Amino acid sequence: MLRPEKPAVDPGILQAAELIHSSSYVVAMTGAGMSVESGIPTFRGKDGLWTKYGQPPMDGFSRFRADPAGWWQKQLNRDMDAHMIELRDALVAAEPHTGHHALTALERAGALNHVITQNIDGLDLKAGLKNLIEIHGNRSRLRCIGCGERTALNDFVQVEPPEPCVHCGGAIKFDTVMFGEPVPTDTMEAAREQIDLASCIVAIGTSASVRPASGLLWIAKSQGSTVIEINPFETKLSSICDVVIRSTAGDALNQLAKLFESPEHNLRDRARSVDPETDLNTDSKIGYGATLNHSNLREYEHDRF
Ligand SMILES: [Zn+2]
Repeated sequence: MLRPEKPAVDPGILQAAELIHSSSYVVAMTGAGMSVESGIPTFRGKDGLWTKYGQPPMDGFSRFRADPAGWWQKQLNRDMDAHMIELRDALVAAEPHTGHHALTALERAGALNHVITQNIDGLDLKAGLKNLIEIHGNRSRLRCIGCGERTALNDFVQVEPPEPCVHCGGAIKFDTVMFGEPVPTDTMEAAREQIDLASCIVAIGTSASVRPASGLLWIAKSQGSTVIEINPFETKLSSICDVVIRSTAGDALNQLAKLFESPEHNLRDRARSVDPETDLNTDSKIGYGATLNHSNLREYEHDRF
């Protein structure tokens, strides 16, 4: 009786692994398709929040600026659009999936230099990823809209509207970028710096339709970077990609990470070593070392948002 053959690696995965391996600097950009496998709903698409509840007004940032205290009161009283409540509940419950852990494994193997995520869930950090730019911010931090100072909430939640910034008097909001709010300059510059360094981009679970993040992918391509797409669906980006893998993020990243671990493919030995300096510089361009004002916080229980 013949022994069953070991299942062959998907040719697209193998091609992507070779491309990553032969590239001098690899940057991944992740989108909503990455988070959806952790149970976080998307806005658009068949089961998207906007499809379910209708598209909300796109002027969230100007409404915040007009009345920061009123905005905070609504947040604290959960007096919000139904789609925001569903999103927050999903964010609280979410855990990293195998794709997040595979990205961290690729980083540790020296196969991946940096990740730019459009997601706000913090799951990459939870999975241990070091070199990360959260282009749309992170809900577990506060940010001053005047000077951009960030404060990590860690295990605390806001129970009173925050006082204005002690440095500049600006209003304080969540670090998350609102509709109508520009991506903070320091974040955008850090992302652009990574795109300029990249010789290979891996676009994972992104529809490549939300600016300015999507624009970075086209800039990378125009600068000569190769582009690998991991997405179950065709996107605006597909036609310019060098390798397209029609798969979920979890499946494809796991297969890729295994190739970089596997001695038979001898990819790990040939992969670049991780630079210990950049390895330690998570969010290196974006400081958020401010001291917490504990008077308007309480310890994290179950309702972070
Ligand atoms: Zn400030």
